[in-house]
Amino acid sequence: MPLADVAAPALLLGGRLAIGFANIPSYPGAPAQHLSWEELIAFLQASHIVSAERGTSLLALSGSDPDAAQALLSRSVRLRDALRRAFGALVQKEGIAREWAEPINQVLRITEGHDELVLGGSAWKMEFQAREGGLDWLLAAIARSAAEIIVEGAQARLRICANPGCGLFFSDNSRTRRRRWCSMAICGNRHKVASFARRQAS
Ligand SMILES: [Zn+2]
Repeated sequence: MPLADVAAPALLLGGRLAIGFANIPSYPGAPAQHLSWEELIAFLQASHIVSAERGTSLLALSGSDPDAAQALLSRSVRLRDALRRAFGALVQKEGIAREWAEPINQVLRITEGHDELVLGGSAWKMEFQAREGGLDWLLAAIARSAAEIIVEGAQARLRICANPGCGLFFSDNSRTRRRRWCSMAICGNRHKVASFARRQAS
């Protein structure tokens, strides 16, 4: 499977960068605990945080500089797990613990820089320009997106998929605001098929 395809579904389901990141690695209906270097780079590439060329050179880093790769991977897992806890609390309308905000603040702290207007194809977009060249800046936009969602609170309309076996987060920007599934094609249909089968059986 091409790299980009591994991460793309998670990104689309999430609707926002930090939500997509909280969901990785996600295959239909199952976010997992582990995170591989390949899955991390695939996400960065699919979300256009890095270009395809930069993605390829980052992939090689696990061989050429395993310590640097491992450091970024550990930081990513810590950030992702904190996002899952914080987002879970948001969905349940519970308070967010200080300790869950800390991994987000850590990234915000080390990633000094500024936004810059960049012409991508025919459309202008804002792109973060890091002051330091280190690897941690790769998580800067994700941490910022997470911070924005937490500040928005209930207005972010963060939801968790109604399929108890799924656990994927999404942002409900449907008109009726009653979206229940991460994806109608995946969990929604599975639910429909299951309840149809139950009706047939009874
Ligand atoms: Zn789902």
